[in-house]
Amino acid sequence: MLEKILSWFDSGTAKCIICSRRRDKLKYQKNGAGICFDCYNHLMKGKADDYYCADSRINRLFAPFEYSDNLRAAILSLKFKDCTAYAALIAQLVYDALPLYYVYSDYDMLLPVPLHPSRYHERGFNQA
Ligand SMILES: [Zn+2]
Repeated sequence: MLEKILSWFDSGTAKCIICSRRRDKLKYQKNGAGICFDCYNHLMKGKADDYYCADSRINRLFAPFEYSDNLRAAILSLKFKDCTAYAALIAQLVYDALPLYYVYSDYDMLLPVPLHPSRYHERGFNQA
């Protein structure tokens, strides 16, 4: 068993944060974790949600991915299991998705969700 675990590191395989499978090649990789090509392609083909708000101060909201299944699990691992290496990978997904759905001049700002100071102190980082 130990040899198999060590072989993962020797062979360069890393775990995909979305499907949890170890892969020889990943679309993105950081600190032993990554996003495999299958999951990346699946997410990029998904339909983003584009909302128009009744609130006159915000006229449009955009979510690049559906918050469900394996992506949700990866985000929860980032937030609650201290998997901070996931942050850069998830940020890369959002960065890659924006041009698929948006004309950059079509929005005023990209606004991360604020985090309450007590949560920030507890968690040690803002996942947004
Ligand atoms: Zn995957």
